[in-house]
Amino acid sequence: MGYKGIDTTELVFDNYAASADSILGGEPGRGFFQMMDGVEVGRVNVSARACGVAIRAFELAARYAQQRTTFGKPIAQHQAIGFSLAEMATKVEAAHLMMVNAARLKDSGERNDVAAGMAKYLTSEYCSEVTQASFRIHGGYGYSKEYEIERLMREAPFLLIGEGTSEIQKTIISKGILREYAL
Ligand SMILES: Cc1cc2nc3c(=O)[nH]c(=O)nc-3n(C[C@H](O)[C@H](O)[C@H](O)COP(=O)(O)OP(=O)(O)OC[C@H]3O[C@@H](n4cnc5c(N)ncnc54)[C@H](O)[C@@H]3O)c2cc1C
Repeated sequence: MGYKGIDTTELVFDNYAASADSILGGEPGRGFFQMMDGVEVGRVNVSARACGVAIRAFELAARYAQQRTTFGKPIAQHQAIGFSLAEMATKVEAAHLMMVNAARLKDSGERNDVAAGMAKYLTSEYCSEVTQASFRIHGGYGYSKEYEIERLMREAPFLLIGEGTSEIQKTIISKGILREYAL
């Protein structure tokens, strides 16, 4: 559907014994922790990708809305479209702040499962909403491959799924907040 620049493939290790010195991560018995650390980095990574797709979708909408004229004025001058641009810009800004916060926490070495989960959840959902709003602003052209928003419409859904779906992020967040606010 999207992400045509990378291949997705399956790896099968059938009855394969790795010697201790060639083990992934280099430390036998630490695999689960290494995987969890990798997943936290991955969530910040997907979050950053969601911010990138969202800002591009917003830029395209802001440009198109000032070029396309209906009823005697650029569609950006219709209040409904202006409000849509305002919502998109606010979501792009909030998503970016959330992603940077999670990335800084990860860099500091502190536990960041909740921050990474929140950032991944919010940015991917906002990315999806902003991309769809931009698509709508493009009218019929948004459905055409001639316009970049068509590709972003195919990229955005993966960000809701990869590195754990929104439901899984909410599971992590709820466990974290109940740990913090335990009676
Ligand atoms: C293009 C692409 C590239 C990918 N690349 C990688 C990669 O590089 N590395 C890698 O490890 N994985 C990769 N994945 C896999 C991706 O991480 C998984 O698809 C994703 O985590 C969802 O898992 P699943 O497909 O098994 O869905 P499922 O777990 O079967 O989920 C199906 C639905 O059930 C919901 N659900 C599942 N469990 C629960 C629960 N406990 N509570 C509530 N709802 C639940 C989900 O939210 C979802 O809506 C890739 C996937 C795609 C599409």
